Amino acid sequence: MRYLSTRGHADRPKFCDILLEGLAPDGGLYLPESYPQLDAAALTRLRQVWQSQGYAALAFEVLSLYIDDIPPSDLQDLCRKTYTPEVFGTPEIVPLKPLQAAEQAQPKMYLEALSNGPTLAFKDMAMQLLGNLFEYELARRGETLNILGATSGDTGSAAEYAMRGKKGVRVFMTSPNGRMSPFQQAQMFSLLDENIHNIAIEGVFDDCQDIVKAVSNDLEFKRKYKIGTVNSINWARLLAQVVYYFAGYFQATYSNDQKVSFTVPSGNFGNVCAGHVARMMGLPIDRLVVATNENDVLDEFFRTGVYRVRGTADTHETSSPSMDISKASNFERFVFDLLGRDSAKTKAIFGTGLSQQGFFDLSGDACFAQAATVYGFDSGRSIHNDRIKTIQQVFECYGMVIDTHTADGVKVAQEHLHKQVPMIVLETALPIKFAATIVQALGRQPERPPQFEGIEALPKRVQVMKADADLVKAYIVQHCD
Ligand SMILES: *Cc1c(COP(=O)(O)O)cnc(C)c1O
Repeated sequence: MRYLSTRGHADRPKFCDILLEGLAPDGGLYLPESYPQLDAAALTRLRQVWQSQGYAALAFEVLSLYIDDIPPSDLQDLCRKTYTPEVFGTPEIVPLKPLQAAEQAQPKMYLEALSNGPTLAFKDMAMQLLGNLFEYELARRGETLNILGATSGDTGSAAEYAMRGKKGVRVFMTSPNGRMSPFQQAQMFSLLDENIHNIAIEGVFDDCQDIVKAVSNDLEFKRKYKIGTVNSINWARLLAQVVYYFAGYFQATYSNDQKVSFTVPSGNFGNVCAGHVARMMGLPIDRLVVATNENDVLDEFFRTGVYRVRGTADTHETSSPSMDISKASNFERFVFDLLGRDSAKTKAIFGTGLSQQGFFDLSGDACFAQAATVYGFDSGRSIHNDRIKTIQQVFECYGMVIDTHTADGVKVAQEHLHKQVPMIVLETALPIKFAATIVQALGRQPERPPQFEGIEALPKRVQVMKADADLVKAYIVQHCD
């Protein structure tokens, strides 16, 4: 398997070469040259693997289709080491939880529990694997890596918990100062491991993301200081997420003639892009419903064909903060497919078009209708009041407390239910991470897993900094010996 850049660069690297990188050299995103196709027999076999051997074995099977430069037995060990009940809380790793009222014969909706890893958000699903892959590959090459990341909360803590104490890896994680929940800040800033550096940027998440891009675009600095990334543009992360679409599908169905739909609380389009990849491989997914919060760049695109990035001032600070984005960094991957993999056109609209105009418009392009008809995409939007109501409603009807991002998903999913097709909403975080909103909705504190008792009071390690890529570079240089 070889990988290409959405902007047409001539290189065709293999998995381990792009594992340690972010963007392609031309600023594009990596995708496989083609999606492996699963016929009925292959799907049946995967279902059996899931049923008899569980998540780690399923992960190995799916990853093997995309990774041919790690010996299979090593890859199998990495998957087994990553997806254990000790780390993810249950033997199923990603159990389905039916949202079923007493009078219903069949559940119409499920939550897929992706948030029982070390940081209580779905990002652990990919990041824990990435930590093990990085350690493996760096040891094999005899190299070290400095991971530079941007987070609005969940990515950063997931990355730090995955990389803490790992040999050959340092983490420099930028986050918007004061914008994460107290629980999230405590999770990240209380890590005192020597290889973990927290940098709080005076700005919003996109300022952090711009800094990461600026540093990564300085190719000389990047090479000299061995800068890598773990942001959602990393292909290995996206690939790891493809696996739980299969696991969700196999749990909700008994035959491959059945279809399911997924609703995905979305920000940077990484999670739902993994669903797109699964669907392109032949997993029988009916609809992929993109749920956004007030920051509705993606909903706007799927409704109108116009992709209009927002300025810093137009980025809303919401009660589902991990979806507070002004542009969706993974979206280029899907648009590349939507444009029939036309890299010149992708380059034109994402490169020059977006940077000069701040938007592109595909409403007049014949391909736009295919987002819904061929690729199965729908979308919807949820705002603070919807979130509160949905948290209340799910608690009253099903006795379950859901987090704010998952609530955006449930709200939008309810608007896209179809008879006969089960709807799986991805549960992207646990409610304890966003306790203030839960208290507002339910008048009570969400449950706190015992290992997180009292973390807000722990000593913190964080450096506050102006939104300036040069300052971040200087900090990295200083901490690299
Ligand atoms: C990261 C995150 C999202 C958004 O996922 P994307 O892959 O960026 O679309 C949604 N919910 C939670 C809780 C997250 O941490």
